[in-house]
Amino acid sequence: VKTSKKGGETPHIRTPIVCVLGHVDHGKTSLLDRIRGSSVVSGEAGAITQHIGATIVPIDSITSMSGAMKNLNVSIPGLLFIDTPGHHAFTTLRARGGALADMAIVVVDITEGFQPQTIEAIQILRNCKTPFVVAATKLDRIPGWRKTEKSPFLKSFAGQNERVILLVETKVYDIVATLAEHGFSSERFDRVTDFARNLAIVPVSAHTGEGISDLLMVLIGLSQRYMEESLALTVDGPGSGTVLEVKEEKGLGATIDVILFDGTICVGDEIAIATTTGVQTTKVRSLLQPRPMKEILIEDRFLRVKEVAAAAGVKVSAPGLDQVIAGSPIKVIGDDPEEIKTSIAREMTEINVTLSPEGLIIKADTIGALEALCKELTAHEIPVMRAEVGQVSRHDVIEAETIKNPLYRVLMAFNTPVLPDAQDLLHEPSYAEMVQFFTGNVIYHILEDYLEWRNNLKRDMDQKRFEKIIFPAKIVILPGCVFRQNNPAVVGVRILSGTLRTGVNLIRRDGKKAGSLKSMQLRKENIQEAHAGDEVAISIEGATVGRQFDVEDELIVGIPERHVKVLETEMLSHLSEDAKEVLEEYTRLFRRENPFWGK
Ligand code: GDP
Repeated sequence: VKTSKKGGETPHIRTPIVCVLGHVDHGKTSLLDRIRGSSVVSGEAGAITQHIGATIVPIDSITSMSGAMKNLNVSIPGLLFIDTPGHHAFTTLRARGGALADMAIVVVDITEGFQPQTIEAIQILRNCKTPFVVAATKLDRIPGWRKTEKSPFLKSFAGQNERVILLVETKVYDIVATLAEHGFSSERFDRVTDFARNLAIVPVSAHTGEGISDLLMVLIGLSQRYMEESLALTVDGPGSGTVLEVKEEKGLGATIDVILFDGTICVGDEIAIATTTGVQTTKVRSLLQPRPMKEILIEDRFLRVKEVAAAAGVKVSAPGLDQVIAGSPIKVIGDDPEEIKTSIAREMTEINVTLSPEGLIIKADTIGALEALCKELTAHEIPVMRAEVGQVSRHDVIEAETIKNPLYRVLMAFNTPVLPDAQDLLHEPSYAEMVQFFTGNVIYHILEDYLEWRNNLKRDMDQKRFEKIIFPAKIVILPGCVFRQNNPAVVGVRILSGTLRTGVNLIRRDGKKAGSLKSMQLRKENIQEAHAGDEVAISIEGATVGRQFDVEDELIVGIPERHVKVLETEMLSHLSEDAKEVLEEYTRLFRRENPFWGK
């Protein structure tokens, strides 16, 4: 189904793009293989075409698989399946700032039900507003299932015994219930009356091919009903696509694998691409497609074509492609080259996230990955100051070092390498001490590493700060224990409440100064700290027993206003009940005159 750029008068509807998501080992790859395989066998009508990074299943191949479809008036040319399943492919492949895929299949093992990554998948799809269908796969694993190769689901289902029927119903209902918990209303596909309101669940088996035609039919229904308008205008006109991968090919040099989602691209077209050194333009030398299987013996692996129309996967060969960024846009230059170049530059920098004036610096290999990492950080209330696609450079390290808040003095690299001079800098003691560097290729792991480091740092910082804070305490001068009158006065005391430390001022209960505590001894040993109930000898400078205080008097530790504020706002949970009481008694002395003292 190819349309020329110069096309007819009526716009040509392009092929919708489908991505497969789901939990690991639930059968994504097997399902994709089955979809590709089944349409090959279904034959002459329209064999599937293997594209670069994608597979097109033409509409007549789908209709011939499912008898019921024959008299349906279908206007889309087929479905394009992205060959790489999974979240990463889905988030990396973008078009115009959103997801590249028009629709998705969420795969769930019917015997296991929803798992963490299945839930993550539906959350991602909800965020991107991408319509999807749930494939409840491994149907043949239901104990007692009698398989009928490649049969539609309802036909196979009708031939099962009661126990199997009940089991399938229960398993499907479990999925309906889990989806409901996440705010989605769903039904088994044959019971869905309104596809705008209800998600369809299609029981399938990749091994037996059962339900596959139903799954494809639901996908076509979805695209027919909800996407015709948005798909309608997108085959004619200059091509737009997304770079899947940059690949070195023997005899060709650097090439880019592209999913074309809009318009047409021709040999000789001028194209604009995003490289590590900015937006560049170049001229298409050749457009390459894989050779059909039967021609496998021909030396050249690729088939050269003159033009390709959306949606399609194609390898583009052109000069100067080695620095192209995967996941970035590619556009055929039409009338306004400058406009196209700015729009690409904008797409590369304008990621759909909120940046904060103070926060971490993050780098990632693709713009989709950057956005996914940024969203995850924001969800954990971790602010991001700068987010960029590309390798970690010396400049990034230097900039990270200038971040004021040590909790954010962090550089995060997701799936992207560190340039050698940046690496050297990170190992220089002055930087290694200041800048915390996190790297990896699983967002979840980077995030966990960061949170663990941050919690430890926070604890250390709190501890250091709290060590300096003066704690409340109350003591009583014991009778018969005045060892020295003055210079300094040495007396025996009991700590009534709180924690007493050396170096503090002591005041009387009327707020007047009593002297400053110099040293403390317990059984002739110098100590720095004593607790409620302890009896110790203390030396007090600037006081004479009988003048500033006398035996049986109670004294309180004087706490500076600034410390009172920290104690009351951040440390109350660290204080014992009796210490809190002393603190209250102490603040009451000052708040009688100034109710806002220490607040
Ligand atoms: P992925 O990690 O989601 O891509 O899962 P795979 O497609 O690699 O499948 C994981 C395992 O499940 C493999 O051992 C498959 O053979 C098996 N599997 C996948 N689909 C089916 C199915 O429909 N029926 C059965 N019985 N096994 C399946």
